[in-house]
Amino acid sequence: MTEELNGYRKQIIEINSQILRLIKSRLETAKKIGELKKKRNLPIANLKVESDLINGALKLAREIDLDESLSSRAINILIAESVKLQQGVSLDRSTFLYNIFEKANKLELMGEKVIRLEVGEPDLECPMELKDALKKTVDERKFIKYCSSKGLAELRTAISENLNQKYGTDIKENQILITNGGKLAIFSAILSMVSHGDRVVIPEPTWPVYGSTVNLAKGRIDSIHTCFEDSWNLNMADIDEALTLNPKLFILCTPNNPTGKIFSKNLVEALGVSATRKGTYILSDEVYCAYSPLPFESVLKVLDSHFIYVNSFSKQYGMTGWRIGYAVSDPGIINKMQRILQISVTCVPEFIQHAALKALNMPQDPFTNYVKTLKMRLDVVCKALDRLPLSYVRPDGGLYIFPKVNTERFNSDVFAHKLLSEEKVAIAPGEAFGNYPEHFRLSLSTGVDNILAGIEKIGVAIKGWQKEL
Ligand code: PLP
Repeated sequence: MTEELNGYRKQIIEINSQILRLIKSRLETAKKIGELKKKRNLPIANLKVESDLINGALKLAREIDLDESLSSRAINILIAESVKLQQGVSLDRSTFLYNIFEKANKLELMGEKVIRLEVGEPDLECPMELKDALKKTVDERKFIKYCSSKGLAELRTAISENLNQKYGTDIKENQILITNGGKLAIFSAILSMVSHGDRVVIPEPTWPVYGSTVNLAKGRIDSIHTCFEDSWNLNMADIDEALTLNPKLFILCTPNNPTGKIFSKNLVEALGVSATRKGTYILSDEVYCAYSPLPFESVLKVLDSHFIYVNSFSKQYGMTGWRIGYAVSDPGIINKMQRILQISVTCVPEFIQHAALKALNMPQDPFTNYVKTLKMRLDVVCKALDRLPLSYVRPDGGLYIFPKVNTERFNSDVFAHKLLSEEKVAIAPGEAFGNYPEHFRLSLSTGVDNILAGIEKIGVAIKGWQKEL
């Protein structure tokens, strides 16, 4: 018996070493292919080739009776490793954003006055009612213990009623998870859905945190590049191509950060049909939905299944530092996401959840008035930008504008650091959101005078840049 067992163990060791030798040779070949692609200036990733590789592997898996999902996962891991090898150092785009953010913080600590146009923190003053509600609960020593990781039943019920009324849906409270900001809803969604080698489609330009989280989960990002010249539209041909490889998630951000694009009902519907057919979940980040003067199409209105909807109290209620948001999905996914909270932050503090409940139930005028303020700011900002050598698509909603500088060889990361050092104006470089070195993002989250002063300095700095060319 022991001899037989040892015999099998030896066989396993031999098979493992054969596998490792094969992987080594597979990666060496991929490296050679990468060098050829670089020489001929060809793109590193090629969905058509990858699709052929995966289909070939699936065909073989069926022939030899090997689990198909295991086979495609193994091939996806090999492809991801090859692409990484060919691309060289992988780029975490959120560093472009956080480097500027930290540098601006440092300058302020040194006593400098910095015009902060890079942050997405609304200057919507959180109403006194909410602060009082929080004070009262803490003073009375109420709600200051651990609570359920899923969130308070009353709050989940209030959110479901609110959404059902707004979108005509039938969402139940067991489909809702209360999270520490929208960020943790996104984090727990990606971590619970994506394993090593799994694919995630992300249209660009995009908020970089999604990609950083997919990288953390060792997933593979398939980007769809959209462009200013095409008004940031997403087209179904690109979507269908990206869906061919059965990605786990498709990430949609609408109204978009950084472009302010609101994707049309037709697009969301068509995307929903294609994604559902492929078993792909749509992670729809709608944290800016309240900042939408145009009719807004939530995925909740369009999809019955295969979605993870994310929202937050940060932007709509000016509660950024309170760290409270939520996700809506089917109960199975919500339970998986809850596990991530259970083993990390435990829960959103209960006193914060009570304040959020108050925010939902109080008169909404302070919040709806802020949307009017943003629209007024956008009008002023567009007029000021029209005087500079810039092009832009007027945002449909959201908190930002993403202009393009009409100057050759413009590099917005270098420009942003120079602007911050020399003019004390902070902007977010376009590279943070994808391959957009000619663009930068301006936030509308500060007063008009401040934004206009910043834009004037940007104009001067662009002239300086052009002279240096
Ligand atoms: N989603 C997008 C697109 C964002 O821009 C942000 C924050 O800037 C968030 C989600 C997360 O916001 P919070 O975690 O404060 O809810």
